[in-house]
Amino acid sequence: MPSNKKILILPGDGIGVEVMNEVLNIIDWMVKNKSVSFEVTERLVGGTAYDKEGDSISDTTMEEALKVDAVLFGAVGGPKWDNIERSKRPEAGLLRLRKDLDLFANLRPAVVFDALAESSSLKLDIVKGLDILILRELTSGVYFGKPRGIEKIGNNEEKAIDTQSYTTSEVVRISRVAFDLAKKRSNNVTSVEKSNVMETGIFWRNVVKELHLKEYNDVKLDHMLADNCAMQLVRNPKQFDVILTDNLFGDLLSDIAAMLTGSLGMLPSASLGNIDENGKRAAMYEPVHGSAPDIAGQGKANPLAMIMSFAMMLKYSFDMNEDSELIEKAIQNVLSKGLRTPDIKQGSETAISTKDMGKAVIDELKHLSGK
Ligand code: NAD
Repeated sequence: MPSNKKILILPGDGIGVEVMNEVLNIIDWMVKNKSVSFEVTERLVGGTAYDKEGDSISDTTMEEALKVDAVLFGAVGGPKWDNIERSKRPEAGLLRLRKDLDLFANLRPAVVFDALAESSSLKLDIVKGLDILILRELTSGVYFGKPRGIEKIGNNEEKAIDTQSYTTSEVVRISRVAFDLAKKRSNNVTSVEKSNVMETGIFWRNVVKELHLKEYNDVKLDHMLADNCAMQLVRNPKQFDVILTDNLFGDLLSDIAAMLTGSLGMLPSASLGNIDENGKRAAMYEPVHGSAPDIAGQGKANPLAMIMSFAMMLKYSFDMNEDSELIEKAIQNVLSKGLRTPDIKQGSETAISTKDMGKAVIDELKHLSGK
């Protein structure tokens, strides 16, 4: 039997708990039927952790997150906690996880399932078969650069400052992830910046070019300006494989790419850190959506983004490509059968519940694996 894989489960608040339950059922099924063993620890995060432990993430939970092979995160937040002190707000727990694990590489796949291609706001032939990956630098750039702030400059005027800054090593480490990922996909990286008007853009392009020349010239590399990339994403998104970009442009471009796929309930993500001396890479997997207080507790949440985040964990943290693809295939089949949660149903289609969608995926896993 393969060795244990240590996972920390953090369901969080609202629908985070509901969609995570469906992943836990899949883990149970895998343990019983796929001769694989996971060591699963479950803890609180977000508003629920604040209520029970006085903080959005306790030191003990953080220590656990640093020890495990991968963290699986649901969602946090809700109106109940909107007015508490900023440092204790549910989102603070998520930010601490990202910071303390130094998760600098954010992977957001935008995959359009054939059965859902019609629910995209773009024409069918533009999105059908789409499978691209946006890789966003997550821990530097203009969201963190100093100086920043708002200052008085006399004459009744104020000035606001944000600083966009990147170092060579920051660009190199995210570019390495992009090239390595491309090798496992269609071997094509598009590096995106604004080298026409920004110093950091020129710098970014040069560092990527140099690394490519030295270590990755077997991967196809293109460069594109960020504004053009935004346009190309809605004009002809299938021209891309891996889009490599900084924190700010990645924030915008990944949301554009997200909308190509139809629903928030279909979008998984992974955030990766450095590889340590034992070869372990810090990693956290989470759906892109939040805790959806408007539908929490009603059995309406789509669990597929959460389940696909788990599938990404199997692929990127545990090298279990076959199992990861099995889950993706099961989801594809479930959708092809017309099974839909309310967020992805169209017109008069009947919708099924969170639990029924989770169960349908497991039934399909049984069918595909003959178990
Ligand atoms: P949201 O993603 O929670 O919801 C936006 C809309 O999409 C809602 O109408 C919701 O019902 C729908 N939706 C989201 N996920 C869905 C799913 N799986 N299935 C079906 N429908 C789904 O964003 P929001 O409403 O802006 O924020 C709600 C709370 O979540 C806030 O407290 C916010 O701070 C928090 N939030 C947390 C995260 C996170 O934990 N990573 C991310 C975004 C927002």
